Amino acid sequence: MLKYISKEVVYNKLWKLIRFPKKSVWREFVTEKVTAGAVACVIVTKDNNIYTGVSVVMDCALGTCAERSAAYQMIKNNETEIQTILTIGRSSYIYPPCDACLGLIKLINPNNINTKF
Ligand SMILES: [Zn+2]
Repeated sequence: MLKYISKEVVYNKLWKLIRFPKKSVWREFVTEKVTAGAVACVIVTKDNNIYTGVSVVMDCALGTCAERSAAYQMIKNNETEIQTILTIGRSSYIYPPCDACLGLIKLINPNNINTKF
């Protein structure tokens, strides 16, 4: 089972990472049929590399979560082991990964059972 990280860790150690996607990556894109960037995710890998992603919600079933968007970036760079995954909405609400994202995280590397979120 994935482990929760404490609020102190989120606000102290990961605050830089939370602000990073807001300032330089986290742009919202909205059309009549697409909303992208309502939720952002930061992945910190075992090697302390950082990957970010945003949610893409479409007027069909082709959208994706911010977690998977960030995970795809990580996979593209030949990394699979996640130390910490943090997902936040525009209102600063912190989301746990959904079942589909948890499934992906566990499948790409069995050591991700120790991922903190
Ligand atoms: Zn998800």
